[in-house]
Amino acid sequence: MDKGLLIVLSGPSGVGKGTVCSVLRKRLPELVYSVSATTRAARQGEVDGVNYFFKSKEQFQDMIARDALLEYAEYVDNCYGTPRDFVERTIASGRDIILEIEVQGALKVKEKFPEGVFIFLMPPSLDELKQRITGRGTESQDTINHRMSVAVEEINLLEHYDYAVINDQIDAACHRIESIIVAEHCRRDRFVKNLTELQAATTEKA
Ligand code: 5GP
Repeated sequence: MDKGLLIVLSGPSGVGKGTVCSVLRKRLPELVYSVSATTRAARQGEVDGVNYFFKSKEQFQDMIARDALLEYAEYVDNCYGTPRDFVERTIASGRDIILEIEVQGALKVKEKFPEGVFIFLMPPSLDELKQRITGRGTESQDTINHRMSVAVEEINLLEHYDYAVINDQIDAACHRIESIIVAEHCRRDRFVKNLTELQAATTEKA
């Protein structure tokens, strides 16, 4: 059976990765979404096991010690990580999975899964990004400033990605990502692998 695609959607905080992912989930119900572990406190309305697995620092350290995380990163004083087992089982079962993670973690995934599909979601402009982080109304001024300076560093890492998608409008951005997924499934190298296996099977039967 063909492996599923490992899709990494990354980009600066506030660019709209979460919103894009939740729209994609509705438009592509067969796409599996990786739920991260974090030491950050739950925001209002967030549900444990749905938005994140909320962990204490000790629990998170224990996951690292057990090698239970595919990648993890510290981001603005909190830790975030991708549970490994779920990702590996999903791909092995032939389903596509999407990880919505920050840039350092995305680069670590690329070291382990260079065949993954790495998509960078871009803000239309830095002014727009600041407005989005401020407009969320959940962060202090210090956190906003910290997130903005991290965002500028993150945008400089765009060169490591396969695709850049501007999030000017949610629907348009989702449409571009859907097109990338369709195109990735049509890649010649995936067909060549299938063809080689088919030829080997045919030769064995003959
Ligand atoms: P937030 O606190 O706004 O939910 O997330 C902060 C940042 O952490 C976002 O850029 C988000 O994409 C990223 N993030 C969420 N889960 C993970 C993860 O498992 N690993 C990494 N490296 N980053 C994550």
